[in-house]
Amino acid sequence: MQPNSTARILLVFGTRPEAIKMFPLVHALRQQPGLETRVCVTAQHRGLLDQVLEIARISPDIDLDLMQDNQTLDALSARILTQFGAALDATKPDRILVHGDTLTTMMATISAYFRKIPVGHVEAGLRSGNIYSPWPEEVNRKVTGTIADLHFAPTQAAADALRAENVPDSAIHVTGNTVIDALLATRARIEAEPALAAGLDHLATRFAGKRIIAVTSHRRENFGDGMANIARAIGSIADRPDTAVIFPVHPNPAVRPVMEHMLAGRDNVALIDPLDYPHFVRLMTMSTIVLTDSGGVQEEAPSLGKPVLVMRDTTERPEGVAAGTARLVGTDAETIVSGIFTLLDDSNAYSAMTRAHNPYGDGLAAQRIARTIADAHRQ
Ligand code: UDP
Repeated sequence: MQPNSTARILLVFGTRPEAIKMFPLVHALRQQPGLETRVCVTAQHRGLLDQVLEIARISPDIDLDLMQDNQTLDALSARILTQFGAALDATKPDRILVHGDTLTTMMATISAYFRKIPVGHVEAGLRSGNIYSPWPEEVNRKVTGTIADLHFAPTQAAADALRAENVPDSAIHVTGNTVIDALLATRARIEAEPALAAGLDHLATRFAGKRIIAVTSHRRENFGDGMANIARAIGSIADRPDTAVIFPVHPNPAVRPVMEHMLAGRDNVALIDPLDYPHFVRLMTMSTIVLTDSGGVQEEAPSLGKPVLVMRDTTERPEGVAAGTARLVGTDAETIVSGIFTLLDDSNAYSAMTRAHNPYGDGLAAQRIARTIADAHRQ
């Protein structure tokens, strides 16, 4: 790129969590002079991605529309590599930006590398240390980190993990996690316009006076026995008359049929379709406890002062556990139930988890990243 010309930045993402975490950055980059910002979606997930794009008012410049039913990791990877490669040849950006740990992240990065186009990695440096948990995300993120030249680490621990892998200090920027930007902006929008999340009014009425547990679960490692255990745990929690479970069920065929088979028709359980982002933010706000195997939800709930029990054996987000806002409970039904009951019955244990501070960000991550990218392309 010539000095003083406009740098063409192409963000690429494909799933709901990536879109939630990238939309604040799209808006922040568009405020930066000297940058021309475009968005490519692979649509690795279709419906859940589109929900976020609409709420965030982002129309992709390129939509590869790659999702197919029952897609395998191999076939999806191959489609991303070839079709994103063709998009790069057509648009010739000066830099691409990827997020986190999906197949889109890794394959788009490889595609850019084949063309010697630099890659900025947002949410870099998270490591569980186990390549099979989260699977395949741990390796997706590590491969991306070996190619990227700008690493936006959400926390100091993530930056330390990159340094331990010999990433030079000058390439690492600790920014906070953009998910907190997305969360705070969305909470403010709901406060100004409650109709944005009014679809939960009927559940607020149905469960008035009960303590609500918000549940999400969709991780590959938990498919099979893990899902059945989680369903059994939810059944026991919902036996308590003072408690209700609201569970937006992921459409994955390894999740929905298990939950419906074991929990449909229970008085204190609402199995509902996945919520758009404003509704999900409202659900977390309404809840007493959040029970999840999701990465993003682990980061969001502490900012709303909600304890999170994490249904995983390892986490690449240890900061929440260290800060006391999150606890790992795995997928053993008894452990999940006793973790929830302790928080419901012991107000000291509960308030200890809500008082802890949120280690994941302050809502300004996207601005920091956008400024760094603008500076990098001014030089
Ligand atoms: N989320 C949502 N609707 C739902 C469940 C979750 O908008 O019904 C949001 C949630 O707030 C978080 C993101 O989706 O920002 C997490 O996505 P997911 O659990 O699919 O992926 P992960 O974070 O584990 O990669």
